[in-house]
Amino acid sequence: MTDTTPAFPRGTILGYPRIGRRRELKRAVEAHWAGTTDAAALEQTAADLRRATRERLAELGLGRDDSSIPESFSYYDQVLDAAVAVGALPERFADLREADGTIGLGAYFTAARGAGENAPLEMTKWFDTNYHYLVPEIGPETAFALSSERFSSQVAEAKSDGFTVRPVVVGPVTLLALAKATDAAPEGFYPLSRLDDLLPVYAELLGALRAAGAEWVQLDEPALVSESLPASPAALADAAARAYAVLGGASDRPSILVTAGYAQLSPEAWTALAAAPVEALAIDLTRGSAPAAAHGLAGKTLVGGVIDGRNIWRGDLAAAWTKLTALEALGAAQVSAGTSTSLQHVPHDVEDETALDPRLVSWLAFADQKTGQVVTLARGLAEGADSIADEVAAASAALADRRSAPGVRDGAVRQRAAALTPADFDRGDYEARVAAQEAALDLPVLPTTTIGSFPQTGDIRRARARHGKGEITTEEYEQFLRDEIARVVTLQEDLGLDVLVHGEAERNDMVQYFAENLDGFDVTQHGWVQSYGSRATRPSILWGDVSRPAPITVAWSTFAQSLTAKPMKGMLTGPVTILAWSFVRDDQPLADTANQVALALRDEIADLEAAGIGVIQVDEPALRELLPLKKADQPAYLEWSVGSFRLSTAGAAEATQVHTHLCYSEFDVVIDAIAALDADVTSIEAARSRGEVIGDIAESGFTHGVGPGVYDIHSPRVPSAGEVAELLDRAATELPLRQVWVNPDCGLKTRGYDETVESLRNIIEATRTIRAKV
Ligand code: GLN
Ligand code: ZN
Repeated sequence: MTDTTPAFPRGTILGYPRIGRRRELKRAVEAHWAGTTDAAALEQTAADLRRATRERLAELGLGRDDSSIPESFSYYDQVLDAAVAVGALPERFADLREADGTIGLGAYFTAARGAGENAPLEMTKWFDTNYHYLVPEIGPETAFALSSERFSSQVAEAKSDGFTVRPVVVGPVTLLALAKATDAAPEGFYPLSRLDDLLPVYAELLGALRAAGAEWVQLDEPALVSESLPASPAALADAAARAYAVLGGASDRPSILVTAGYAQLSPEAWTALAAAPVEALAIDLTRGSAPAAAHGLAGKTLVGGVIDGRNIWRGDLAAAWTKLTALEALGAAQVSAGTSTSLQHVPHDVEDETALDPRLVSWLAFADQKTGQVVTLARGLAEGADSIADEVAAASAALADRRSAPGVRDGAVRQRAAALTPADFDRGDYEARVAAQEAALDLPVLPTTTIGSFPQTGDIRRARARHGKGEITTEEYEQFLRDEIARVVTLQEDLGLDVLVHGEAERNDMVQYFAENLDGFDVTQHGWVQSYGSRATRPSILWGDVSRPAPITVAWSTFAQSLTAKPMKGMLTGPVTILAWSFVRDDQPLADTANQVALALRDEIADLEAAGIGVIQVDEPALRELLPLKKADQPAYLEWSVGSFRLSTAGAAEATQVHTHLCYSEFDVVIDAIAALDADVTSIEAARSRGEVIGDIAESGFTHGVGPGVYDIHSPRVPSAGEVAELLDRAATELPLRQVWVNPDCGLKTRGYDETVESLRNIIEATRTIRAKV
């Protein structure tokens, strides 16, 4: 422990986007993967980006030498960074280590992306966000050892530029709590049981950071807020107490800030951390409230996460100030202002959005503006409330303006929502629907279909880009799309699929496409947010009451239907997914916003039906993602999310077959919710769990149509007809035959045509084999 604890700054952000304002990191990393640039060139781009970030944050008012600037760069993922730092790579990557046992950039990327026979680490969603982290694999055999100098060399790099930064590392409890057991581990092994072996390596890492010049280190422990992990909150709190007793007692370490964002820290963890020998704690006050006074706070800094790290709204500084000053009653040595989480979940800078209405812009804050708000609050804490009165008033005025602006509240939308009755959420008797649909559709047993998109080829992307730049006319672009649809329809007919799709070539993205066509939304030009690795998404901004000025998909679907006698599936994105993958207004309950979106979709469904479309799919791949981390919040969430889906679909006629698609295989967790959606047919991801889902469905008593995906579209691998037949055989044996549909496990947009055609041919051959048997 250092002799004198350096003061913690009065304001900080818990992390900053690392992809670059113009996604420079994506381009650099992908060029390196493609072999067009060497590692040195990539390292140089990354170093330039880190420099630009530090300079920018200093310009925005964070201190150059007071540890208020976090060093939160990552080439791919912060969980992988921590796993690699402590040497926790599974055996299959052992060969990739350097001669001295360290893990270089090549091995790091291989763990992230796989190589040959060696599958990459699994990827899964980070808490209830749309960011995906790599799941560490840890077993009894994992030999922890400091294996990368990346963290300390970044601190040293900053130092040489005159910055004292605060390195950000995923903490030991969270690293283990998010890990899964290696294949070699015995049944029932918990990675968290390796905590005592891991801590000395973290202590060594802290020493290296100190030696490199870090005065503070930030250890992120969001696992301590979750009730959805294998370890219970009590077990996690206990682990935190042990971990921070050891790390706090380490010699020659920087001062330690432990953060716990994304929700309220569990009371047990709060008590444990307050008593731990660390110097500062950061808590989320946007998704949690002030905790009770706790023993041990007197010597610590408490960082109140009052500026939301996960949305893009300009924070209410008056409310933030009230929350911060309320923290003073807890008796900490100092209160500081902070963001609730890292800002990795928001885009860089709203100033880049020159095409947005300036009035909308004045309501927004991206990472740079949020940093500015933290700096303001920090000044208030240091110099008194009067010193920031102007900024607080300006933020309040922007909020008031937003409340009263046209479009934020639309009388007609509100009246319609207020008049809803339970009948609007209810599609009526399922058996009657089955009979009507059988008569209308005349499908064979084991009907075959796909999830919606066909490969988004370079040609499609180029045509869209050229249309966007005005290089081709709208008529030319639409003709291109009609040709593409015609090709995809012919292909499906040739393959022998039963329910066809138009292929979604006109959609840049399954949410943005609807956002662009609904009132109440805007889309950004540069608002990219990392989704995983080099992938980023550009969430739309849902700022006002939602309504549908005109039909959206009807022309494309009816054109596609005109080309075939087979049923053509209309394709919509559901209300929950539209919310989950957008930045959503925070001035009313999500439930109300979801119902507005649902009503717009309901009108679209009515128009599709009127135009002769008899099968309509409403995708809800994000239903599971938004599930709250706290058990107590889950029933209310499921109520409104399921309700909004039902509202969107319940206007459909009995003879209209409503499908939905869900993108995950943890079927058991939300099985009741899936049943409650009351879709006629549900397709789900199942290929990777080798059909285990089929057993879960059979056990659950789910009676509606179900298409457990028969092959994994996330990989270019072509499944053989034999292996698909095996899965189908299992499905047809364990489930009533009339329930089973045959489909890939997700949309095909990321795949190439060669493997797509071959794969579809194989699943149809497999279907014919099983049909002949049953
Ligand atoms: N219909 C969409 C597609 O096929 C569904 C994608 C998804 O669920 N993520 O692309
Ligand atoms: Zn999917």
